[in-house]
Amino acid sequence: MPWTSRRIRPRRVAALVSVTALTLAVSTSAGSGPLTAKAPTAAGPVALARSDSHGACLINGGPTVQMSEGLPTPNGYSRSTGTVRALTLMVDFSDAPGSGPALSRFREFFPQTQEWFRTSSYGRLDYRPETPIPDWLRMPRSFRSYGIERGAPFDPGYRRLVQDIVAAADPRVDFRAYDFLNVLVTPNAGPSALDTVLSVTFAGNTDAPVADGVPVANASFVYSRQDDGSGSYPQTGYRVLPHENGHVFGLPDLYTQAGGGAVGHWDIMSEDWGADNDLLGWHKWKLGWLDAAQVDCVTERGTTQYTLTPLARPGLGTKLLFVPLSRRTGYAVELRTHEGNDESVCRPGVLVYRVDANVDTGRGPVRVYDSHPDSGGCTRSPNVHAELSDAPFTTGEEFRDPRRGVRVRVEGVDEEGNVRVGVTRG
Ligand SMILES: [Zn+2]
Repeated sequence: MPWTSRRIRPRRVAALVSVTALTLAVSTSAGSGPLTAKAPTAAGPVALARSDSHGACLINGGPTVQMSEGLPTPNGYSRSTGTVRALTLMVDFSDAPGSGPALSRFREFFPQTQEWFRTSSYGRLDYRPETPIPDWLRMPRSFRSYGIERGAPFDPGYRRLVQDIVAAADPRVDFRAYDFLNVLVTPNAGPSALDTVLSVTFAGNTDAPVADGVPVANASFVYSRQDDGSGSYPQTGYRVLPHENGHVFGLPDLYTQAGGGAVGHWDIMSEDWGADNDLLGWHKWKLGWLDAAQVDCVTERGTTQYTLTPLARPGLGTKLLFVPLSRRTGYAVELRTHEGNDESVCRPGVLVYRVDANVDTGRGPVRVYDSHPDSGGCTRSPNVHAELSDAPFTTGEEFRDPRRGVRVRVEGVDEEGNVRVGVTRG
């Protein structure tokens, strides 16, 4: 029922705004300082594939940006390649007791979340959700007493909740064995997600309570079901977790106070309701899922020809072009098609977007350019930002930034679906 999804959108936006503020607050400690240098699971800089020719494309934000699109990702976040172990706990309360087996709550998110990451990462992220406590973990206080509401900062409510989770789980859990924490809260705690989305991640939070000698620095909390009533919940309801886990890997929010209009459905950090979607190529590079040879940094003046292979398709070939404009920002170019995690693509083609490492999470660090502005888009899928659904450029179309002298022209498609583009720098 698309009616339902349209009706809920404004309310969700309100919720997301406050979550954004929360992320800003909690990621303060990420990125620098002596604490993060000791973080045992940080590997963003290690995982990023690059060569000397990529130097101009390693844009980064200024010192005031708390959670940035910059490269490489600072220390303090979870590793995003190789085997990553997610301690996954199902938590309930005396005033919100879990209903049914805790493992059925777990199965609302798995195996889909690990499959989503396996597909998106071309097999480079081996995500292992582990449930050493397969039952509901009862908190010692009522849900109400933690004061958790949208926009709640880490102190005091979440600090108390994490302390209580650690105390309750510690006899049966060695926290050192895990890269981050998923807390799947019983869905009857707090308001309906149709009214308020409480789900939140505290990332790079080295000031978090310590368990078995390590801070619980990266933790995602998921609350009531993101069920729009359309009947798609069993297929798509898990998607809030890959979004929240994107934060533990260092990705910022791409939606803004105005909602998903900056990036639309082209990245799960922009929209996590509705049909499946993937990550931007920029995010895949940032997470260490693209080889250096799959990313071309376009620094030469004049026009250069490239062949892009579909971003969602595993294998060799160029997946991402980046045209740096400064040390902070540049244009990214990639080929998006209806395959892999990109279920909702209705107009395959070349997506062009601007990445600004100097813009903070939730403030619009990425902006997608619409090849057909004000068209209304091509999608009929609920919970997909419609206007940007037809954003990709196709054969004969051209993105232009006259002021910077940048042009991206789509020249044609070969029989395998690869696309030739000409990129011009003035
Ligand atoms: Zn988020």
